[in-house]
Amino acid sequence: MEYRRCGKSGLLLPAISLGLWHNFGDVDDYKNCRKILQHAFDSGITHFDLANNYGPPPGSAEENFGHIIKKDFEGYRDEMIISSKAGYRMWDGPYGEWGSKKYLISSLDQSLKRMKLDYVDIFYSHRPDPSTPLEETMGALDLIVRQGKALYVGISNYQVEEAENAIRILNELGTPCLIHQPKYSMFERWVEGGLLDLLEREGVGCIPFSPLAQGLLTNKYLKGIPEDSRAAKPTGFLQENQVTPEMVDKIAKLNYIAQERGQTLAQMALSWLLKDERITSVLIGVSKVEQLEDCLESYSRTIFSEEELEKIETILSH
Ligand code: NDP
Repeated sequence: MEYRRCGKSGLLLPAISLGLWHNFGDVDDYKNCRKILQHAFDSGITHFDLANNYGPPPGSAEENFGHIIKKDFEGYRDEMIISSKAGYRMWDGPYGEWGSKKYLISSLDQSLKRMKLDYVDIFYSHRPDPSTPLEETMGALDLIVRQGKALYVGISNYQVEEAENAIRILNELGTPCLIHQPKYSMFERWVEGGLLDLLEREGVGCIPFSPLAQGLLTNKYLKGIPEDSRAAKPTGFLQENQVTPEMVDKIAKLNYIAQERGQTLAQMALSWLLKDERITSVLIGVSKVEQLEDCLESYSRTIFSEEELEKIETILSH
């Protein structure tokens, strides 16, 4: 595994990190979850990303992860970087979502109980809250670090200006923003419009989520929608109607370039992100160990020729 420095911090993260948004809930196969986590760690993936609401049901991914680390990772906590987040709806009433101090502090306490941990390594504000002063949300992150419940803090889904303000406030508070977690893939490129420049300037790391566009940037949908795929599952966030003929045509063309490079499409999609040194790590999801093995081949092939890049641009821009 290659480890990259997270912004200008002291923390190194693996080029590939594993997220537990899908495939680790109570609706999923527990034995398979264990196998994936063991294989990931044995392959040098030290960073595991969670959130209060991951499941389904919400909270179950953290609970299952807690059981598995107790069982299989006893003694390895210091070799792991575990993150969690709060921002989306987690419980009823006015204190169960968004960015108030009340919600963030209570939610992290619940997450720590579910995961049976004393602290998380990174705690995120999962989304900006238009109704709560940013000073309050960032103040809660600062407090969490001072309480020893998280070592570092990050932000996710913050647009450029929101991120700029959050980073400034955290600096003033003396708890620098470690990392931003935006959606970024070949199919979703908003971060190229200023966010990556800001993060580089401020020395903040970047860990793109859904780098495979939830599985679209793989060869799995080329011949229809497989039964066990995210698009086919009732609990999957990817909808069947997102797998359009135009999308499949684009995927087929990208798949052809990947084959010419001697890579699978999943590998090329990750290599394409990792070619930019501002990307600290790509945050993938997997439903099988074989997918993880496939993705693991990507960080050693991040050089693209001008011609390859141009061909990719042409496909993506049509
Ligand atoms: P990806 O874009 O990596 O999609 C993962 C899916 O792609 C897998 O479930 C699998 O689909 C398919 N896949 C992965 N590898 C392969 C392969 N080699 N060959 C074929 N198919 C493959 O990421 P996710 O959308 O799962 O997001 C990753 C993580 O990012 C989350 O777990 C979470 O930690 C974070 N995240 C954060 C968000 C935020 O708001 N901060 C929002 C969303 C995600 P299948 O299941 O069909 O087999």
